[in-house]
Amino acid sequence: MDDKPVSRKSTGSRPALTLFGAGLAGALLGALLARRGFAVDIYERRADPRQRGYEGGRSINLALAERGMAALRAAGLERQVLDQAVMMRGRMVHGLDGRTQLQRYGRDDSEVIWSVHRGRLNLTLLDAAEAAGARLHFGQRLLDADFETGSARLRDEASGREYSIDAAVMIGSDGAGSALRQTLGQHVDLGERFEPLGHGYRELEIPPSADGDWQIERNALHIWPRGGYMCIALPNTERTFTVTLFLPNEGDPSLATVRSLAEGRAMFERDFADALALIPDFDGDWNDNPVSPLGTLRLARWHLGGRALLLGDAAHAIVPFHGQGMNCAFEDCIALNDLLADSDDFARAFADFEALRKPNADAIADMAIENYVEMRDLVDDADFLLKKQIERALAEREPAHFVPRYAQVSFTCTPYAQAKASGEAQWAIVSELARGATRLDQVDLELGAAMVRERLAPLAA
Ligand SMILES: Cc1cc2nc3c(=O)[nH]c(=O)nc-3n(C[C@H](O)[C@H](O)[C@H](O)COP(=O)(O)OP(=O)(O)OC[C@H]3O[C@@H](n4cnc5c(N)ncnc54)[C@H](O)[C@@H]3O)c2cc1C
Repeated sequence: MDDKPVSRKSTGSRPALTLFGAGLAGALLGALLARRGFAVDIYERRADPRQRGYEGGRSINLALAERGMAALRAAGLERQVLDQAVMMRGRMVHGLDGRTQLQRYGRDDSEVIWSVHRGRLNLTLLDAAEAAGARLHFGQRLLDADFETGSARLRDEASGREYSIDAAVMIGSDGAGSALRQTLGQHVDLGERFEPLGHGYRELEIPPSADGDWQIERNALHIWPRGGYMCIALPNTERTFTVTLFLPNEGDPSLATVRSLAEGRAMFERDFADALALIPDFDGDWNDNPVSPLGTLRLARWHLGGRALLLGDAAHAIVPFHGQGMNCAFEDCIALNDLLADSDDFARAFADFEALRKPNADAIADMAIENYVEMRDLVDDADFLLKKQIERALAEREPAHFVPRYAQVSFTCTPYAQAKASGEAQWAIVSELARGATRLDQVDLELGAAMVRERLAPLAA
């Protein structure tokens, strides 16, 4: 494990790079590129969270998986982040009758995901960027950019003053609502498509118990699946859980039928009674936390020659059901950092970046939507659970050919597109074997193993 702190100051001997957005991707990328010797400036519209406190916005905690961890390892930050994280071994499924069942994600504690606090993680990354020599400019909002003259117009949020800066090479790490993307889109056709999911979310909190302990199993991602809708809860180091309710826009229940506090409480009493009992300030949370929409952003193009590039959510915002948006954004940072290791040819690096990362971003966008159906509809479905048992049995028998898709996405850095393709071939075999069976001992696993060896290429070691 490489735990060296990011301390090498930028010599600034390589060209200047201007990043917009010091969120999760912008701060990590700033640290990595400053270490490479680029003169990095990052403009962030929010105030410095180290002075003003973190202005959250959305999702208090996030699931960090191996590919995100690998990026943090490369930046020398793995230990620091793990110290602020809570391990999640699997899904704890809460039935309507209040019964629970833990479905492990992996084989053992080497195959887990981690719940991290967005604000604290951001602070760690900002410190790393600054220590590496990146210059951070807070409270500065990108308004628009001129790619011909290589300049950007910003507004100082405190005074309202607008001004221009030189920015020959611009990187948009300014999130799903990216201002750089907007201005780039006025210059070239980005082929932008936003696909609303048709579902929204609202956050609530389970506090610690009266004696200061976690109220439910701490090392799990809790799910209350209810068909077309669900709640989840992720643990925090403060012994709280952040609960997220996901509801469709239409139907019953939906955001259209559950609008008022009284309607929300009635739905929880009916569908999530055991969770409601753990949320003493349900009314306050419901009133304070608005509903936010969800969707998938797809672009045909992520860059303009060597002048501008989009990455992270600015290029490919996805729905949160595989817990991979940040992980994917961190992988972006490592990929770009590698491409710029020995070359200042930005046009080439940005084109190679897009070619390398876009198929993978498209693949995780699709898998994230599929995972929503799995989480809210299938985790308590007998046929699906049998298929999961078959999947596990085949993975144990043929580990060189068969690593379940969830494991490839969460516990390895296998490119997303490859994980998606092999996952489809695996699921076809599993579905064929499950036909007509209701129990694992009715399934011909010998035949399954032969099918796996015949149809699935060996996985890279
Ligand atoms: C409910 C929810 C749950 C999620 N759960 C997970 C999870 O469990 N695991 C996971 O991996 N991912 C998760 N994600 C996705 C994850 O939050 C994003 O993929 C990740 O934050 C992307 O990082 P980013 O740096 O690209 O964007 P952001 O983190 O959004 O950062 C963008 C930054 O740009 C700044 N900015 C915006 N506009 C401007 C401007 N005009 N000028 C200057 N600065 C600007 C913003 O203030 C912000 O600091 C979740 C998302 C949601 C909505």
